[in-house]
Amino acid sequence: MATVTLDNLRKEFDNGRIVAVDDVSMQVDDGEFITVVGPSGCGKSTTLRMLAGLETPTGGSIHIGDEDVTDVHARKRDVAMVFQNYALYPHKTVEQNMAFGLRMSTDLSKEARRERVRETAEMMGIEDLLDDKPDELSGGQKQRVALGRAIVREPDVFLFDEPLSNLDAKLRTTMRTEIQRLQNELGITAIYVTHDQEEAMTMGDRIAILDDGELQQLGAPKDVYNNP
Ligand code: ADP
Ligand code: ADP
Repeated sequence: MATVTLDNLRKEFDNGRIVAVDDVSMQVDDGEFITVVGPSGCGKSTTLRMLAGLETPTGGSIHIGDEDVTDVHARKRDVAMVFQNYALYPHKTVEQNMAFGLRMSTDLSKEARRERVRETAEMMGIEDLLDDKPDELSGGQKQRVALGRAIVREPDVFLFDEPLSNLDAKLRTTMRTEIQRLQNELGITAIYVTHDQEEAMTMGDRIAILDDGELQQLGAPKDVYNNP
C-alpha cells in the first residue's frame, strides 16, 4: 500500500492546443479507494495513463509513497492496471496470464509463483479456469482473470480504467460487490475511473470529479453530490 500524490499534474497534446489534464493536484491516502468520474473527454484516461507510466506528463509531478514516478522511465512503479477490454494475452492460458505479470515484477521461485497464482485464483473463484484460454471465457470471467492478474502481484496501487463498462447490468453489480470485498480484505489503494456517477458514488471512499481536464470537486460521496 502507498499514498499517491499528484501535484499540478498536466498533460497537453498537439503542442498545447489540447489540455487533457489541467494542473490537477490531489492526494490518495494509504488504502483509500478513490473514484474519478466525469464525462467522456474530461481527462480520466490520460490521468490514469500517466500514473501507469504509459504517458509522459507535460508538467507537475506524481509520487507513489516517497518515490517520484513522474517520468515514464521511473525505475520503481509498483502499480497494476485493470482495463475495460481486459487486455489478456490471447495465446496464454489463464494461469500463464496471471503468472506472467508476477514473473516480471518479483524474484519468487517458480514454485512460489505457482502457489500464489493458485491462491489468488481461488480467491477470485476462477481456479477451474486456469487451463482455459481467454477466448473460452465469458466477459465476467475475463474480468475476474484481469483482476486476479492485478491482485497476484500485490502492487502498491491499483488503477482501474472503466473495468466494468463492457459487462451487462447484472454482472456489473456483482463485480462491484466483488471489487469492494477485495478492497476491504486487502486494504488496497485504488484509483478507479468511471463515467458512471452511481458507480462512483457507491464504490468510492472519496470521489474526484473531473471536467475539461480540471479537478472540480474532491470529497466523500455525500458531500460531493450535495454541493453540485
Ligand atoms: P476520458 O478518459 O475522460 O474520456 P481522455 O483522457 O481520453 O478523456 O481525453 C482527454 C482529452 O485529451 C480529450 O480531448 C482527448 O481527445 C484528448 N486526447 C487524449 N489522448 C490524446 C492523444 N494521444 N492525442 C491527442 N489528444 C488526446
Ligand atoms: P477513453 O474514452 O477510455 O479515454 P478513447 O477512445 O478516448 O478512450 O482513447 C483511446 C486511446 O486513444 C487512448 O490511448 C487515447 O490517448 C487516444 N486518444 C484519445 N483521443 C485522441 C485524439 N484526439 N488524438 C489522438 N489520440 C487520442
